[in-house]
Amino acid sequence: MATADFVVIGGGVAGLSAAARLARHGRVVVLEAEDALGYHSSGRSVSFSHYGIGDETVRALTSHSRAFFEAQPEGFCPTPVAWIAPTLYVATEEMLPTLETLHARMAPFTAAIEWVGPAAMTDLCPILRTGPGAIVRGVLDRSGLKLDADALVQSFARVVRGTGGQVLTGQRIAAIERRGADWLARAEKGEEWTAPVLVNAAGAWADRIAALAGVAPLGLQPMRRTIIVVDPPAGADVSGWPFVLTAARDFYFLPEAGQLLASPVDEVLDDPCDAQPEEYDIALAAHQLEHYTTLAVTRIAHRWAGLRSFVADRVPTAGFAPDAPGFFWLAGQGGYGFQTAPAMAEIVETLITGGAWPAALAAEDITPEKIRPERLAAGMESVSAG
Ligand SMILES: Cc1cc2nc3c(=O)[nH]c(=O)nc-3n(C[C@H](O)[C@H](O)[C@H](O)COP(=O)(O)OP(=O)(O)OC[C@H]3O[C@@H](n4cnc5c(N)ncnc54)[C@H](O)[C@@H]3O)c2cc1C
Repeated sequence: MATADFVVIGGGVAGLSAAARLARHGRVVVLEAEDALGYHSSGRSVSFSHYGIGDETVRALTSHSRAFFEAQPEGFCPTPVAWIAPTLYVATEEMLPTLETLHARMAPFTAAIEWVGPAAMTDLCPILRTGPGAIVRGVLDRSGLKLDADALVQSFARVVRGTGGQVLTGQRIAAIERRGADWLARAEKGEEWTAPVLVNAAGAWADRIAALAGVAPLGLQPMRRTIIVVDPPAGADVSGWPFVLTAARDFYFLPEAGQLLASPVDEVLDDPCDAQPEEYDIALAAHQLEHYTTLAVTRIAHRWAGLRSFVADRVPTAGFAPDAPGFFWLAGQGGYGFQTAPAMAEIVETLITGGAWPAALAAEDITPEKIRPERLAAGMESVSAG
């Protein structure tokens, strides 16, 4: 049996970024069930940071996290983990009120947004279908950030290992029990780890991990999202094209590695699993791409699906379980686990070590009460009732 100060279950971006902060305070062991880090949600993300998603708290967490991405710590990663990439929210005539609301909600967080018309939009992305009956207006945010998901996951893991901590793959936790003042986590293979603090960062499986420990669930809802990869128009250099999202949230696409990724922005309730794309959602992604752009989809080069897991209010949760000392929740990152990871990792460190709440978080109106599991008591009832 190995002992540590902190055992973290889950080798996705949430667990690893938190582990990297906790490694400043003691010995950390990260336990990942799969043979590779980031195998589930973190490896299936389009990993963008933008203000067009989530509520005020999520936007504030996104804003707070930017400093980390823009000026990554010395030695963190040999390559940049983020680079500026524009985000363009587009609207048909019917979607204009929604776009106005989105603009009003984003404006406090970025000075780089402006209204754009059809000509400016097709300058940025020539395949957009603009004009009457199609896209008529847009909001361009030049401050979007494309994140390198794999570089982030691997770099956080390197930080943990660099402090003498361990990041172990192929260790699926199958049992959790109290051992005196500690938690004991036992893997399927029989190995055991104990620590006074156990961080549950198991993504879609976080409620299942809680069940192993006899802790009340948060009411997590894993939602499947589908991505297809298609070839851009022959000869087109798509590298400078924006991340394009419809105000109605029924479609997005973005360039990546010379190809285009597109999604029907599906949110289909699923069980925690190795998510696979459904034929319907693949076809819908291709249909929406042809509907909102002039591209003819002749070949789908690749497709995948991943889970985005939410609690009732869709705000990520971090905090000790009210019913189990030392059991710490880090779950419900939804569709913003990358763009909020640095802020959430700082929150985890603060709440676990009992440090003073960071003034910069307070200034952005992020309070522990907005993040802690206790806030979900009412929400959990409404989720189970609905
Ligand atoms: C298609 C798609 C697009 C997205 N786009 C964006 C985006 O643009 N920007 C953004 O910020 N976010 C985006 N997201 C969301 C983001 O990917 C997630 O919020 C984030 O990856 C969640 O990280 P996680 O570490 O909580 O979960 P995961 O990466 O799923 O990690 C949890 C880990 O826990 C492990 N685990 C589970 N049970 C056990 C066990 N018993 N023992 C040991 N380990 C266990 C799992 O194997 C898994 O690796 C997107 C997600 C998807 C699917």
